[in-house]
Amino acid sequence: MKRSVRRDYYAVLGITATAVPRDIRRAYQRLARQYSPDVNFWDAEARSLFDEIAEAYRVLSDPTARAMYDRFGPQIGTSALQPGRRGDDVHVAVELAFADAARGVTTTLQVARYSPCGPCGASGTGGGEPCRLCQGRGVRRALDAVAAAIPAGVDSGVQIRVAGEGSAGPYGGPRGDLIISTRVREHPFFKRQGEGVHCEVPISVWEALRGARVRVPTPLGEAMLVIPAGARAGQIFRLRGHGLPRLSDEGVGDLFVTVRVELPNGLDARTDELVRELERLLPVAPRRGLEQYAGGGA
Ligand SMILES: [Zn+2]
Repeated sequence: MKRSVRRDYYAVLGITATAVPRDIRRAYQRLARQYSPDVNFWDAEARSLFDEIAEAYRVLSDPTARAMYDRFGPQIGTSALQPGRRGDDVHVAVELAFADAARGVTTTLQVARYSPCGPCGASGTGGGEPCRLCQGRGVRRALDAVAAAIPAGVDSGVQIRVAGEGSAGPYGGPRGDLIISTRVREHPFFKRQGEGVHCEVPISVWEALRGARVRVPTPLGEAMLVIPAGARAGQIFRLRGHGLPRLSDEGVGDLFVTVRVELPNGLDARTDELVRELERLLPVAPRRGLEQYAGGGA
């Protein structure tokens, strides 16, 4: 069935142009029951009326479509009843504790963005005039709480794009994206360098001499570091898979542990005697060959 003239949708639903969404819905429900094809299956006129009612409701219950209808009148084709343009992307910075960056966290961000204007239903019009609250744009600036999932392993300077959480477009246009820039606070023990994490672990001179198994903290828990006998101060041990989660492949990076050798605090008569004995049994000549450099020679 082809309708040569599109009827006034407000008239079809028997409501005024200032009807609020609840009135529109009630009018539609009442008429839909009355002209339902289930009830009036054989009545062609009722079926055509039902189609008209459904079409009127489809347009008037959609704030964007209604705004377009109000603006351009009943002659407009439905193809022109498109939502407004996409809203802008919104940038927001977030500062994270090292542990949250390591494990990932869901955080609530206060995002200053444009959101649909509630009182005018994003149409930009109210009571036949431009909406005063949004100056007819259908969107208003708002500070919204937005939950965002920060993936495990983010570093400072990472940008996370959350689709559809930016500013709303005018007249019901879709939202742009939310782009979160991260900054991870320094940690007193762990230092991040690219994909690796570095830390310094003190060991006793006896552990260095004899070797030891030492529990060391890692960004995600703890690990056992096996120190071989004769470890040197400043030696770096690599604990594979004990660093931070990688964003690239869901693997876990490495932890690099630099050992610092701690000496006992002073000697008494007895320990002094024992160390002298040890020195005699385990002679060390740490500066052998240095003489050749005296005076800058080589
Ligand atoms: Zn408004």
